[in-house]
This record gives sequence, structure tokens and C-alpha cells, in this order.
Amino acid sequence: MTLKEFEKVKIPVIEIFQSISGEGITAGNLVSFVRVAGCNLRCTWCDTKYSFPETGPGVKDMLPREILEELIELGSTEVICTGGEPLEPGKAKRYLPAYLAANDFSVVIETDGAVPVYSAGETDSFDIDLSDISYCMDIKCPGSGMSEHNLLENIIELTGDDELKFVVRDKADLDYALDIIDKYKDYLADEDIALNFSPVFGAIQPVEIVDFLKSHTEYFESNGLWPRLSLQIHKFVWPPHQRGV
Ligand code: SF4
Repeated sequence: MTLKEFEKVKIPVIEIFQSISGEGITAGNLVSFVRVAGCNLRCTWCDTKYSFPETGPGVKDMLPREILEELIELGSTEVICTGGEPLEPGKAKRYLPAYLAANDFSVVIETDGAVPVYSAGETDSFDIDLSDISYCMDIKCPGSGMSEHNLLENIIELTGDDELKFVVRDKADLDYALDIIDKYKDYLADEDIALNFSPVFGAIQPVEIVDFLKSHTEYFESNGLWPRLSLQIHKFVWPPHQRGV
């Protein structure tokens, strides 16, 4: 889809708001969020199921220009495009992050890792440098019920400002994450990709993740990897199920 085509279509939006970034290496930054409707996955522990419907109550169809105006009004220059899944192929919403980058926003895309990241040439008409867009990409662990959907080839498209996130609910998920990391360890080390381990809220204690990371210190150190515990800090600042934060 070209920029000209994109500017004329409406995007199904669940919410636009300003908050702090809740996770990963941007955690705590004052940012704006655009949550688009629709997701290609159904994770067992999903905490944003309200983003699944693409039409009906709770979904606002907005022109790109209207989304841009709301974001400018909020004031942050950093925006996190989330969902649902922002990069679903074949849907106009896939080009919202490129459009926002073209309008001088610093963009992070939270993607589920089961859809392709932007390919070379795909956003040419938006006249952006793809390095202006960062990815916080999930690798779905077995506890999500969605691990067979991982597009692992996405990993070698990531670069230094990008990060991986493993949401883990138990020891089996931690072991799975480590297996994936081990397969791509040279690339992940070369690009200095942050490896976030995030607990399923209420399912695994964060200290169990810390203990797991500690028990693999030598492995991470000797391979030049960057593992981190990532807590959803918005769930500590506000009630865990509060929306729009
Ligand atoms: S990918 Fe994200 S929005 Fe989609 S089901 Fe999984 S957790 Fe929910």
C-alpha cells in the first residue's frame, strides 16, 4: 500500500492515550500509544482481548490524519503502536507505524512475532528510514498456546534498537526461550538485541525468572547476550486490569 492510498483509508482503533511505556528497554518513558483492532493470534494469557473485534462497539474507524492529530495533541514524540497486532499483512493498519514515522514520530512497534516485519522496499512511498522504527517483538512460548505460529526468521531482521520479549508462564516456557536464544545467539549478540523475560501476571513469580537468569549467568556472559527481567510496570502503577494506561 502506498502513502497516497493509505491516507484515504480508515483504521480500526481501540484507543489512543498517553502513559508510561510499561515494558522492555523503554519502560518508564512517557509515551503515547495507539492500540489498533484485530489480532491474528489468541494467546491463552492475553490481557487485551478487548482489542480482538475489528468492528462494532469499542472500535473507532479513524483516518490516518485524525490519528495523527490526536497524537500531536497528546504531546509525546515517542509512540508505541500496539494492538491486537499492528502488522497484520493485507490490512491497512500495517502501514500506520510507517505513516507516523513519516510524520516525525519515534515509533516502536509491539508485534507478536507471527507476522513479517517490514520488508525492504515495502514502505518506500512513505519516504522513511526503516531504522527510525524499532520493534519490540514477541516470541510466543508454549504456555501461550501460540508457539507454532512464531516466524523465527523475523529475528534476523532485527537490529540494535530492537528487542525480543518472551512472556513466560512456567519453567517450560523459560527452557523454550533459552532454546530459541541459543539457535540465534550469535546474531543476537552481534546486534546487541535486548532479551526481555516477562512473567505472565499472576502465573509465575518474577523471582523465579531472576533465579533462572542467574543460573545461566555464565551462558549469557560467555555469549555476549543481554537478558533482562521485564515487569509490566503499569500493572503496579494502576490496577492490573485497568485499560488506557
Ligand atoms: S498477540 Fe497480543 S493481542 Fe494477540 S492474543 Fe496474543 S497477547 Fe493478545
